[in-house]
Amino acid sequence: MNKTVLITGSTSGIGLALAKRFAKKGYNIMFHGLESNGQEIADKVGAKHKVKVGFSNANLLKSDAIEYLIAETIATFGGLHVLVNNAGIQFVSPLEDFPNEKYENIIAINMNAVFYASKAAWIPMKTQQFGRIINISSVHGLRASEFKSAYVTAKHGVIGMTKVMALEGAPYNITCNAICPGYVKTPLVEGQIKDQAKAHRMTEDEVVEKVMLVKQAVKAFVPVKAIADMAILLAKDTSTTITGTSFALDGGWSAQ
Ligand code: NAD
Repeated sequence: MNKTVLITGSTSGIGLALAKRFAKKGYNIMFHGLESNGQEIADKVGAKHKVKVGFSNANLLKSDAIEYLIAETIATFGGLHVLVNNAGIQFVSPLEDFPNEKYENIIAINMNAVFYASKAAWIPMKTQQFGRIINISSVHGLRASEFKSAYVTAKHGVIGMTKVMALEGAPYNITCNAICPGYVKTPLVEGQIKDQAKAHRMTEDEVVEKVMLVKQAVKAFVPVKAIADMAILLAKDTSTTITGTSFALDGGWSAQ
């Protein structure tokens, strides 16, 4: 039987790249995201790699929708083996102007949804004595930058949660790890370049050069393929002892 992976936010950016790679490796994929062409994306990837696919647009702001997403995945595929908590949003603003609603939504989607999804997947994973939970945190789970109070808080929280899940999952062959990318050129970052330009009063080119890549020793965006390589490794049957760890794919940012 092919294993099943659910990747939240997999109809865009990093999540989509991960879904394509897992499909290439023969996993069934539960696609998820708010993009209106999600079903179309899922069908295309499924047909290309001859794997079973599903699609959900569950709103991660709602815990009951998240619980339903996990239940629906298990009902569709007969199991859930790999959960990638990937979906995330960003908002950039000086603290004094940061809208409370934006703060609360970032905490809800980037952090609380990781808890609700993992909790709902926990008993099925325990019962099958296999689970691989991969949390897409960020270099901002390890380091701070100005104007990102909500995002940095949520991503640090995810790293703490990753460690607890690793400890509690160990007796049941459930591993939990975080991947912490530096900047990856996705729709989320394209939006951020615009916001940062406003916050820093710079041009968009200056933001890339002087704000984004300035902290990375390797002056290049992180390729999505590198994140996919890491996720595939973490999902393997043989990766039982890789757990509770955060993998920085950040061009040397956190080495400083
Ligand atoms: P993206 O904007 O391309 O994709 C985000 C996905 O999350 C989309 O599919 C979107 O529909 C989904 N989503 C957002 N809000 C949702 C909600 N309320 N309910 C359901 N789905 C929702 O972003 P990306 O750059 O691919 O980011 C993916 C993850 O990687 C995020 O957690 C992000 O914080 C993290 N990350 C990104 C970068 C980067 O530079 N792009 C760097 C480090 C970490």
